[in-house]
Amino acid sequence: MATSILSDANRRLERALKYVTISDDASERLRYPKASLIVSIPVRMDNGTLRVFQGYRVRYDDTRGPTKGGIRFHPDVTLDEVQSLAFWMTFKCAALNLPLGGAKGGVTVNPKELSKFELERLSRGYIDAIADFIGPDVDVPAPDVYTNPMIMGWMMDQYSIICRKLSPAVITGKPLSMGGSQGRDTATGTGAFYVLQAMMAKFGQVPQTTTVAVQGFGNAGSVIARLLFDAGYKVVAVSDSQGGVYSPSGLDIPSIQQFKTSTRSLKAVYCEGTVCNIVDDYTLVTNEELLALDVDILIPAAMENQITVENASAVQARYIFEVANGPITSEADRLLEARDIYVFPDILVNAGGVTVSYFEWVQNRSGLYWTVEDVNARLKTMMVTEAERIWAIAQELAIPPRTAAYVHALERLGDALNAKGTRDYYVGGL
Ligand code: GLU
Repeated sequence: MATSILSDANRRLERALKYVTISDDASERLRYPKASLIVSIPVRMDNGTLRVFQGYRVRYDDTRGPTKGGIRFHPDVTLDEVQSLAFWMTFKCAALNLPLGGAKGGVTVNPKELSKFELERLSRGYIDAIADFIGPDVDVPAPDVYTNPMIMGWMMDQYSIICRKLSPAVITGKPLSMGGSQGRDTATGTGAFYVLQAMMAKFGQVPQTTTVAVQGFGNAGSVIARLLFDAGYKVVAVSDSQGGVYSPSGLDIPSIQQFKTSTRSLKAVYCEGTVCNIVDDYTLVTNEELLALDVDILIPAAMENQITVENASAVQARYIFEVANGPITSEADRLLEARDIYVFPDILVNAGGVTVSYFEWVQNRSGLYWTVEDVNARLKTMMVTEAERIWAIAQELAIPPRTAAYVHALERLGDALNAKGTRDYYVGGL
């Protein structure tokens, strides 16, 4: 039987607990999601039939503030996956010191098979089903895999209709015209880039001699690939769900981005059309082959469970930056660690998305909107500050960056949980 993703995620917690002194009450509380909602969403399809989709929303822990996390539309969405993603959000928000807890939502659907009208009805139907479970002071959704600003806009509108008042702070990642924040669309990739630069400086690794492979060319992968290219790194491979391209001399990321936007498939970029002429020595690679390329930096920016015990020994990169959530299983972690491969974890590396979501929520509540320069400057300060703290913990305790990130988050979560009262208050007497 396949291991549950949540129990695998919990292994990271157990490992980190060895390095922190938090009360048993706090650690026990963090092992379980606070509340999980399963809903069915009836949607009238364009041909007149009715289809019922399965949806979920999980609030993992709200000790540090309202829960926060995206909504995923994907055929593989299950309750177990959503619970794990909500677990990661809890630690991610704490690692970045955001006054927020962790949550996640999802609908089991292949959105590519729906018309835009069907997608709108599904998005509004999902909010109808979960409206009592969310709210600006309770739980604040956002985009995740295969959801986008347009969908967030429909969802905010639907929630506002239900509540009979405009409620922009109920959801983040909205279009700018509906109260979205400058810089939110590029925040995950940009935040990851700031962390990568800060960490590469520790190893004296300079862009010009550093090769990078990026798995996934969506909202996060394409942005970090572009920033790395602009900073002078040699991005030698990129992929999407159809497969990827590899060119040892480096890829021209801006033209790939342009072609991908018009053709929607990387393979089309390289096999049909003029980009084939720009790069002469390219090869098509599968996603599996991309993970095993001989590069300095590997960036999984697609889905979870990409590097497992099956393929971890094939990884040749020296540094891995997890832009996706959960791309490496805990067993694979051990194998990579034994080979001295540095893994910078998702709960730090991809936290730029939720950090700018937090900024959006603050702007919606205050009514004062920031410039993109303000957003990126604050994002950089927060990402680099927390990355440096995590790096210092890793050095001090001689533990991998992932465990250090959990230790860092756990200290904050433990303090907040303890402040609510623990066994010691009662047993010791006041
Ligand atoms: N889905 C993103 C994540 O996994 C962003 C969540 C948010 O902005 O609340 O971090």
